[in-house]
Amino acid sequence: MREIDRIVLHHSGRGVFGMLEFPIFTNLMHKNKYHFLVERDGKVYNGRPIEIPGEHTDAYDPHSVGICLIGNLNKRVPTEKQNRVLINLVSGICQEFHLSPSDIYGHRELEQTICPGRNVNLDEIRGQVEETLFVDSLPVIF
Ligand SMILES: [Zn+2]
Repeated sequence: MREIDRIVLHHSGRGVFGMLEFPIFTNLMHKNKYHFLVERDGKVYNGRPIEIPGEHTDAYDPHSVGICLIGNLNKRVPTEKQNRVLINLVSGICQEFHLSPSDIYGHRELEQTICPGRNVNLDEIRGQVEETLFVDSLPVIF
């Protein structure tokens, strides 16, 4: 397994055809670049297998997991379901690869871009993941 040191969040944006909020179309377009895609209705699509680097953040591709939120999140906000599923997915990846919330990045924090969209609050996402990881780490008492 390759070494994973970060998770990078993206949005599908407007894209070349200006119609990338179309689920099936978007998924086909992006399946091969990202590892996971999160649809606006909360459905998760698997893209590239996690053992293989994605093609989404150039220099960071070899050591990262790429997740794409479907939608133009400069114009719209992530749906509640989309956000909830994202938090679960990211928390799961953090546990699997021993990452912490500070290893979660938005594309814009690594490269010159607005991606994953101006309506995505990265600190809020890191905070929600932190809470999820904390709750999951509590001992279960019967
Ligand atoms: Zn991006």
